[in-house]
Amino acid sequence: MRRELVTHQGCIVEGVDLVSERLWQCPSCGMGRVTREARPHTPFHRCVALAGLTAPFVEAGVRAVHRRVEREDYVAGELVQCDAAGRPVMAVVPETEDRQDCTVFAQPATAQARGGN
Ligand SMILES: [Zn+2]
Repeated sequence: MRRELVTHQGCIVEGVDLVSERLWQCPSCGMGRVTREARPHTPFHRCVALAGLTAPFVEAGVRAVHRRVEREDYVAGELVQCDAAGRPVMAVVPETEDRQDCTVFAQPATAQARGGN
């Protein structure tokens, strides 16, 4: 909660901002972020420690690790998410002491259009 002075109809009043700041950290690269959002949310970033993969932050102070889930089956020309080294990755899973989330790199659907007569 943050207090600040604002003007309202020519008077200076004290305003109270009910949206508090939330501090986040990346368990892999150590990058931090501050958000001011009342709704449930999780910020993401391109993590240098995970070879450029998009990874979620966790609340600052929470002990966590990111677990990479590499694709183990044959790619066969499918559009998959790869890290900077070209290895296909299916997900990044942030694991904390009491919960486990998952960021899935879903394979996009593809289609081909053919011209008709
Ligand atoms: Zn990171």
